[in-house]
Amino acid sequence: MARKFTDGKLVIASHNKGKVVEIADLLKYFGVEIVSAESLGLPEPEETGATFVENALLKAHAAAQGCGLPSLADDSGLAVHALGGEPGIHSARWAETPTGRDFRVAMERVEQALGGKADRTAHFVCVLALAWPDGHAETFEGRVDGTLVWPPRGEYGFGYDPIFRPDGYDIVFAEMAPGDKHAISHRADAFAKLVAACFRGAAG
Ligand code: IMP
Repeated sequence: MARKFTDGKLVIASHNKGKVVEIADLLKYFGVEIVSAESLGLPEPEETGATFVENALLKAHAAAQGCGLPSLADDSGLAVHALGGEPGIHSARWAETPTGRDFRVAMERVEQALGGKADRTAHFVCVLALAWPDGHAETFEGRVDGTLVWPPRGEYGFGYDPIFRPDGYDIVFAEMAPGDKHAISHRADAFAKLVAACFRGAAG
């Protein structure tokens, strides 16, 4: 049985404002007061883990220890099956260029690495970690499977959305209205598991 969240205040261990707003929206029915790590002046720890779970836990524990409140962190990325799961936890790193992050470049790197391989299947992963100041933590993993297309298309979303066509659809994530993507995404899957285990019937 997962530990229930009954504390009232929850720190979102992310300095990404979009993520904090999205999470606040998802948890508004559970009487949770959302606080951002940035507003508490918490530093962002280095993501030194070897897995999504390790990185999500590292961020959640660092925030919970730093401020004495339960903290939620996420780590996500694209795992390409013919590339042994890469870029995986390095999904943001594959976008690095001398002038900053560029996901057009990251998508080209993936396409080049695939080099005409027949297997173009991939999945997005999102791991959520909820850590308490006493060191206890729960993790939840969500995923969505699909196929990589080339060239990139669509205007919505971010990151690798222009090349990811989820199973059962003719369009890529970047061609879906944001609400439609959010209904089936790896993040939605992980959140549903988190809410079912730690929030439903817990905080009231
Ligand atoms: P982070 O966990 O926020 O650091 O995200 C890691 C990277 O994974 C992002 O920079 C994106 O490149 C990629 N990523 C994660 N989720 C998505 C998504 O929903 N669409 C496209 N790219 C994603």
